[in-house]
Parts: sequence; C-alpha cells; structure tokens
Amino acid sequence: QLSHRLTRVAHHVPEGAVVADIGSDHAYLPCYLVLNSIIGKAVAGEVVRGPFESAKRQVQQEGLNSQIEVRLASGLDAVHPEDGITAVTIAGMGGPLICSILEQGNERLTGVERLILQPNVHAKAIRDWAVANHWTITEEEILKENEKIYEILVLEKKQPPVILTPKQLLMGPKLLEEKTAIFHEKWMRESDQWKKIVASMESTAQTMEIIEKKQELVEKIQLVEEV
Ligand code: SAM
Repeated sequence: QLSHRLTRVAHHVPEGAVVADIGSDHAYLPCYLVLNSIIGKAVAGEVVRGPFESAKRQVQQEGLNSQIEVRLASGLDAVHPEDGITAVTIAGMGGPLICSILEQGNERLTGVERLILQPNVHAKAIRDWAVANHWTITEEEILKENEKIYEILVLEKKQPPVILTPKQLLMGPKLLEEKTAIFHEKWMRESDQWKKIVASMESTAQTMEIIEKKQELVEKIQLVEEV
C-alpha cells in the first residue's frame, strides 16, 4: 500500500497526464498512478543503481513494463523530448536538491504543465526557485506521517507569475490561507528550534557571520510569530 505522503502527492497528478517521477526509488508512485488508471504512461528516473534495479523489479512485478519506462539517469536527464511529459513529480528529497534538479534540467521542462514537488525540508528554496523561474504555486498541502511533517507544492506556468511576500515564501501562500493544525504544529516546532539556536549563539563569539545568522533567525521567528 502506498504511503499517506505519496498518496497525497498522487492526488495532485492530473488525470491522463504523462508523468516523469524523478528519484523514483521503488517506482511506487508511478505504479500506483497507472494501476489506479489515473495515468496511462510514465517514466521513472533514478540516479543510483540499487533503487533503479528496485524500480525495474517493481514495474516488472506489477506487469507495467509497457506503461512505465525506468531509466538510470540524473535528474531530468531521464526525460526525453519524445516522451511528451506533461507532469513531473519529485518527492522525498530536500528542497535545495529538488531545486538543483529543476535548475540543471530547466530546458527539459518545455511542455511540462505541472510540477508536483514534495520537499522533506526547506520548501522555501522551491518557492524562491518558482518565483525566479516564473512558475506559479497553484496548490499546497501540509501533512503528517509517522510524526514527520511534509509539504507538497504544485507549480504551474501561469501568467502573470505571482510575486510572493517574505512570509509567503517561508510558509507558503496557500498554506497561510488555510493555517491548519499541522501547519501550526510545524511552525511552533521550527520557531522553538530557532529560538534555541539563537540562545546558544548568544554565548559564542559574536563574529560577523554569527551576527548575520542570528539576525536571519530572529527575522524568521518574527514572521512566524506574526502569523
Ligand atoms: N520519491 C520516492 C519517495 O518519495 O518515497 C523516493 C525518495 S528517496 C528518499 C530519494 C531518491 O532520489 C533516492 O532513491 C535517490 O537515489 C534519488 N535521487 C537523488 N538525487 C537524484 C537525482 N539527481 N536524480 C535522480 N534520482 C535522484
């Protein structure tokens, strides 16, 4: 059975999309999408041989070889122009790694209508990337599984691209509209941690680097407290 986290990622994949799942590991997500007739065709990309072999085995076991192509490739190199990919999913990695995959493969995103991204940490990096690259955040979701809190961001090329405030970049424009209980829990956890870091910084040498880092944390704590 697919995890709650990946089921929610799947929920944002449009019916009939042609999907590239990058960093697919066991290819559970594309298998689920095809087995549930949400999509008919996918590419599963993996850069590491072990997970690539697991993905191949899984696709074979499910009898989905004709619908899911598993490729050993780094990031969006798994996407070929003739695939006609319309949606890209990247889940279970840090925000900065997801951004570097998007950045390095930017020209392979031509024709892609929707990005469904699930960073484990630092979703802000993705929001910064979205603004800089003219993608609009159309949906966001926050969820909890095994005591961990995850965010899902859906990006689309819409005109005109939206400008986000520092608060929206940090906490998410859609998530800020909803302010669910899990959202509150996440930001209480984060700001408690930042406060501890700031307190520990008080007792170390006040170098320029420490002062700047402290200032950055204090500003983030303020943003969270305003919310
Ligand atoms: N997407 C699955 C999920 O959400 O459960 C698997 C997440 S797993 C923690 C991250 C996977 O991404 C690993 O299998 C890793 O090998 C793969 N990965 C990391 N960097 C990658 C890259 N540049 N290109 C393709 N795969 C990558």
